[in-house]
Amino acid sequence: MTNRVVEEPEKKPMITRLQKLRTSAAKERFDALLVSHPENRRYLSGFTGSSGWLLVSKQKAILATDFRYVEQAKGESPDFEIVQTKGELHDWLPGLISDSGWNRLGFEANCISYDSHHKLTEAIETKHVHLELIPTTGLVEELRAIKEPGELDSITRAVALADAALEQAKAIIRPGITEKEAAWEIEKFLRQEGSEGIAFEVIVASGPNSALPHARPAERTIQSGEPVLIDMGARFNGYCSDLSRTLFFGQTDNTLRRIYDIVLRAQTAAIEGVEAGMDAAQADRLARRTIEQAGYGDAFGHGLGHGVGLAVHESPRLGFNSSDSLADGMVFTIEPGIYLVGQGGIRIEDMVVLENGKARVLTKAKKDLSF
Ligand code: ZN
Repeated sequence: MTNRVVEEPEKKPMITRLQKLRTSAAKERFDALLVSHPENRRYLSGFTGSSGWLLVSKQKAILATDFRYVEQAKGESPDFEIVQTKGELHDWLPGLISDSGWNRLGFEANCISYDSHHKLTEAIETKHVHLELIPTTGLVEELRAIKEPGELDSITRAVALADAALEQAKAIIRPGITEKEAAWEIEKFLRQEGSEGIAFEVIVASGPNSALPHARPAERTIQSGEPVLIDMGARFNGYCSDLSRTLFFGQTDNTLRRIYDIVLRAQTAAIEGVEAGMDAAQADRLARRTIEQAGYGDAFGHGLGHGVGLAVHESPRLGFNSSDSLADGMVFTIEPGIYLVGQGGIRIEDMVVLENGKARVLTKAKKDLSF
């Protein structure tokens, strides 16, 4: 990509995002929040480096990173005060906080190791800093779940790259080539067309391997008459896409053809029925009901879908035991599947955005049964 406008880090949204975080944090018990989750860090600050921490209070926004990233941070995160760190979190944090006036520090409980927490607690005690550590979850993730127009643009570009890669895959994949070769062709195409690497390892699973929902491409040669499950995603401006299709060469086994129709019906029911305000568990039911009625309930062993954004798996989570609820602006996958051990599996996955209460399908890839 050579379009400077698109590549430039979005600066204005950062202020809005910080404001939103401060508003939702106002009801929390802490004076400042320590952000350690990489995608949360990028989302709030625009900083794309692989190491750094944010400290956000009502008045302050600090980005702490080591000498490798200081200059980059200054360029990417103009709304943040950049602090250069040395050593591990417990080496510099108590000193940085000691004269901030903060007594309670929120931290992301799902993104700090037991070891870091332990060392930090010890350092706080040793250095006689009055600081209580308060665990939090999901504060930034909740904001990230609702996409801004600029984010949706980037996601749409990532979806289009995956759609194009699927077309390319259909042209290249034929009986005789291995799953690994096919996966590499898809990855190569994505990178050539401008994807920032790949969103996750490409899955090409043929024959019985397709019954493993997260199969790894093997040396197995793709054969005629078998299902080939392809699952892959691109990345654009940091935003991911996620696309699955199952295709057949030549004569298709009757059971698998029937299963394909069931999965497609389940997916269509979910796309048409999903609504803003609905519980994510209820959305899962829309597809699961169809699959259960067809007698394959036990063979649909994963959730209906997941949010996609800076991470390929993020909020909301659509599953039978999810407590999330759906809202306009959310982008997520709808990907029911049926997996028959020893025979093969079918998964069909689209990405949608909730707009005006209903799902608009972002994925354009066709749902043909054959190559
Ligand atoms: Zn997915």
